[in-house]
Amino acid sequence: MTNMINLISDTVTKPSKAMLEAMMQAEVGDDVFKADPTVNKLQEKLAKMFGKEDALFFPSGSMANQVAIKLHTNPGEQMICDKWAHVYNFEGGGAAANSGVSSLLIDGDRGMFKASDLNGIINASDNIHTAITTLVAIENTTNKGGGACWDFQEIEKLKKVCIENGLAFHLDGARLFNALVAKNETPKQYGELFDTISICLSKGLGAPVGSVLLGTKEHITKALRIRKLFGGAMRQVGYLAAAGLYALENNIERLTEDHKKATQIGNTLQNLNFVKSVEPIETNIIIFNLIASVDENEFIEKLKENNILISNMGQGKLRMVTHLDITEEMFQTIIKTLNMLKF
Ligand SMILES: *Cc1c(COP(=O)(O)O)cnc(C)c1O
Repeated sequence: MTNMINLISDTVTKPSKAMLEAMMQAEVGDDVFKADPTVNKLQEKLAKMFGKEDALFFPSGSMANQVAIKLHTNPGEQMICDKWAHVYNFEGGGAAANSGVSSLLIDGDRGMFKASDLNGIINASDNIHTAITTLVAIENTTNKGGGACWDFQEIEKLKKVCIENGLAFHLDGARLFNALVAKNETPKQYGELFDTISICLSKGLGAPVGSVLLGTKEHITKALRIRKLFGGAMRQVGYLAAAGLYALENNIERLTEDHKKATQIGNTLQNLNFVKSVEPIETNIIIFNLIASVDENEFIEKLKENNILISNMGQGKLRMVTHLDITEEMFQTIIKTLNMLKF
């Protein structure tokens, strides 16, 4: 399995030699006592970058999101998110289990919705019959939506609705850096609009583990307690934070290369007679459908015989994700293989 070209996810990357070197050199301490200088450095760097007061390191993006949901809500309340949201679909039902929160799902487009979709669906606290709406959570880029990027002006409109209704606003920014690079936006723009933001270091940025939650001092003080409650307080975790710091310093701008490769793979797919359609490609995720006469699993198997791994999302959707471990040579092999396949 050595030379496998793995397009299943951007989570499959392994630390480069230089990243491992940075991890080996990390100065560490017991982070439960806030005494790990490398963790502190990573948290300060990200908080500053986004213009937020504080930040907290997490073992996973799911935990960062779930802690954010818990700190913004009380049991019995309601969160609004898209029907495809990761916080609703792929975190084990955590919002209900951890926070006792129900989710009102919006039928959006590729994981995104409009501020106007909130008209008339926000439950006020003076109606004793309904779950009180307290939180709106969005995702940028959208995962199930194929790496789609929100229109920033729509996010500004949503923020206005949140302010008018006293709702907290959380961003699941697992792949936010992909959106920033693709749309030429800045971290500070996002820091200004959201109460809390979660960022994954272990997706396109290429660190082996880790996410960070950003917010005010008050949010992060609450998050610190909830992270402990969830079992996520770790000790000499600076070794992992060092990978995150390395990723922030070296792996942001290069995301454009992943996006370019994804676009080119998409263009190739579009021209194949056994591909029915390719969803719009904005960042590093490619979602496509095959024509009815071609079996998806057979297609996946054929690619596998050619050392290329991709994933089946179900309902006829296939997915490829580009990332920093896909070399130029591998990219050429992908294009060549796709053009060679016959069905
Ligand atoms: C990957 C991802 C997360 C976090 O996933 P973990 O595997 O828990 O780190 C959260 N939201 C989105 C949109 C993601 O793609």
